[in-house]
Amino acid sequence: MTVEVTTPKRITILGSTGSVGVKTLDLIRQNPNRFMTVALTAGSNVDALITQALDLKPEMAVIADPDCYDALREGLDGSDVMAAAGPEALVEAAELSADLVMAAIVGAAGLAPTLAAVKNCHTVALANKECLVCAGPMFMDTVKHYGTTLLPVDSEHSAIFQVFDASLSEAVDRIILTASGGPFREWSRDRMANATLAQATAHPNWSMGAKISVDSATMMNKGLELIEAHHLFPVTEDKIEVLIHPQSVVHSLVEYMDGSTLAQLGTPDMRTPIAYALAWPDRMAVQSDKLNLAEISSLTFETPDFKRFPALKLAREALQVGGAAPTILNAANEVAVARFLAGEIGFLDIIGTVEDTLAQCRNNHPTTLDEVMALDAEARRLAQTWIAVGSAAE
Ligand code: NAD
Ligand code: MG
Repeated sequence: MTVEVTTPKRITILGSTGSVGVKTLDLIRQNPNRFMTVALTAGSNVDALITQALDLKPEMAVIADPDCYDALREGLDGSDVMAAAGPEALVEAAELSADLVMAAIVGAAGLAPTLAAVKNCHTVALANKECLVCAGPMFMDTVKHYGTTLLPVDSEHSAIFQVFDASLSEAVDRIILTASGGPFREWSRDRMANATLAQATAHPNWSMGAKISVDSATMMNKGLELIEAHHLFPVTEDKIEVLIHPQSVVHSLVEYMDGSTLAQLGTPDMRTPIAYALAWPDRMAVQSDKLNLAEISSLTFETPDFKRFPALKLAREALQVGGAAPTILNAANEVAVARFLAGEIGFLDIIGTVEDTLAQCRNNHPTTLDEVMALDAEARRLAQTWIAVGSAAE
């Protein structure tokens, strides 16, 4: 009799305390023979990171905020987990030998460690869409140069990945990204002007982090995903469309030249695309509600309204212009969403900030990490200035 012994996949999670990070860890905990953790990282939620690290015993736990280092070191005292802090330590964690790195930090803050993972790891599972928005060409060149396998975790891109025949990319006529339409799908612009934080973060189908929830309400999330899809799949921008699908069951579609349209369906549960990336090229069981189409009974689709949701148009234009524009779009959006989450600007000011910052866009092409981060910092300054001037004028 032969006994098959498989060594567990070694997994690092960048952003382990977030919505995607916690779901990834749940799947790892449920499959202790299949996975083990190498490093866990968080922004400033040190208590959650300590609990995770004591439970899963990775080699290293990193907190991005240096002010939290003492608390992390004390919390891990007596364990074998190495504590570290700061942006360089995030990169070190990403460089540790691992089979797969889950990139689940939110925002451009995830770019440097995710790039480090791309340069050091065979497989990167990418949840952090902002990496591809702020540095798409440079990021994908690095992926190609190092021969890294990039697995999309965003549900739409995971869906496309599952039905896109890479050997027949010239036979693809269209990629159709579905969008729930967010909590304000049926709201007028006037009503949106007074939208509260609680309303903007109450997503009808998905449970997610604060930033992506607001992005879903403005529909900038779908704009970012359009740019993400363009970099992940060999299709030109004009072949990528957005379709509103309020039930979030059809996660995206690929239309081939012979009229066949292939889609991936499932309940709106991020554990499915996360599990797909963790187990790839195999599949693993996930204990979640299975899709019951008879119970759902009807699936509906609408074309997006670009007047009420100008973010979609802005993101497409930024992709068409290329160069600095997507980097600036992303940075201005991150600043504006953070200010909205802090209760400092109104809901419609989010896209107003992005629009105005983009109008001051410098026509250059960042090609290195330093150039991207310098441009990102400049766009953040411009966005903060626009907000300061706007609120002074009120
Ligand atoms: P989240 O806010 O819940 O978690 C973000 C994680 O990043 C946390 O661990 C946080 O501590 C860490 N972090 C925040 N700022 C940091 C910084 N400056 N430096 C280092 N670490 C930092 O976010 P999320 O909802 O899990 O989303 C993570 C990424 O995945 C985003 O790019 C999002 O667009 C993408 N995504 C999320 C979902 C979802 O369902 N949540 C779905 C698709 C894609
Ligand atoms: Mg998505």
